[in-house]
Amino acid sequence: MSKTDWIQQEIDGLKSQGLYNTIRTIGSPQGAWLIVDGKKVLNFCSNNYLGLANHPTLTAAAKQATDTMGVGPAAVRSIAGTMTLHVELEKRLAQFKGVEAAITFQSGFTANLATIPALVGKEDVIFSDRLNHASIIDGCRLSGAKIIAYEHNDVKSLEEQIQANLKNYRRALIITDGVFSMDGDIAPLPDIYEVAKKYDILLMVDDAHGEGVLGKGGRGIVDHFDLHGKVDVEVGTFSKAFGVVGGVVAGKSVIIEWLRQRGRPFLFSSAMTVPDTAACLAAVDLLEDSTQLVDKLWENAKYFKAEMKNLGFNTGVSETPITPIMLGEAPLAQQFSRELFEAGVFAMSIGFPTVPQGKARIRVMISAAHSKDDLDKGLEAFKSVGKKLGVI
Ligand SMILES: *Cc1c(COP(=O)(O)O)cnc(C)c1O
Repeated sequence: MSKTDWIQQEIDGLKSQGLYNTIRTIGSPQGAWLIVDGKKVLNFCSNNYLGLANHPTLTAAAKQATDTMGVGPAAVRSIAGTMTLHVELEKRLAQFKGVEAAITFQSGFTANLATIPALVGKEDVIFSDRLNHASIIDGCRLSGAKIIAYEHNDVKSLEEQIQANLKNYRRALIITDGVFSMDGDIAPLPDIYEVAKKYDILLMVDDAHGEGVLGKGGRGIVDHFDLHGKVDVEVGTFSKAFGVVGGVVAGKSVIIEWLRQRGRPFLFSSAMTVPDTAACLAAVDLLEDSTQLVDKLWENAKYFKAEMKNLGFNTGVSETPITPIMLGEAPLAQQFSRELFEAGVFAMSIGFPTVPQGKARIRVMISAAHSKDDLDKGLEAFKSVGKKLGVI
């Protein structure tokens, strides 16, 4: 017996249950087409909503910045790692989103880990949508606050939980994803805001899949619902529509100032690198200059969804470019994904426990990088595999 035998047993268990993650390797830049494990395939998997991950404006900005400012920040933000580029990006993001202030983090994940424990602690309560992202769940756990899940996108359930529990705690926080990444549905933020206002509770939304996608020119879910000044904390990521990597928290300046004092990943982990930061600044420039990429994304998403419905597929309840193709059982979804790959289309199957039993699906991520011809090629592959497997 060795000390690591149990790990091998766990891994073998995952493999025998079909739950083992096989990780494919991408041998090309991100874009509409990828080289995956040596094969050229149409990309329906990336969160590269606007095609910025390999956009010439962003890569040029990253190159130019490394030539003048180097690559690394070489210290945590609070010691010697805050560079003019970070401050510039935070100022530009606050303007872009129409908030008082913004603070950047290494990722959306660390933005949640920084923010939630800074706002609530052991004596407090968090009301959290049942389907919130893993980084929200981990941030909630780190805070030590009592976590009460309400039913997904169900404002009545949220209010019932508040009425039953609020009185037992010092302070409270309501947290929801803006766009839910598995179904592509949008949180009913105006109704959630009304409840937050009624009970005077801080409101936080994680807009990772809405940043650069929802709202005017991609300004996010708060702009989409015209809730400016009403949501206390907006978390975002640069790893999806922005095409880079990094995270942001935007909102009232007093909260942002507090995160500079108490956000642990800000205080104890180094910042975004120089090229990341410069590329994000270039992304803000692009989004402020024109809504063209955001418009193209939505045009593509509408076309693809409508054609999939015409073919007879069930595309679920999505209201965004995230397009789930509902298939039911996980083995069917896995087989569908394999057949698509054979046909030159890279689209992931998602099954239990990421989504409930019996709700396995293929998730198609539409991008502004796709041409109409790309989408038609994808539709053709879905049609032939769907017929072969008896789905349509
Ligand atoms: C993707 C995602 C994150 C993590 O973002 P990263 O910047 O990749 O760490 C956080 N929250 C939600 C809701 C997400 O979808």
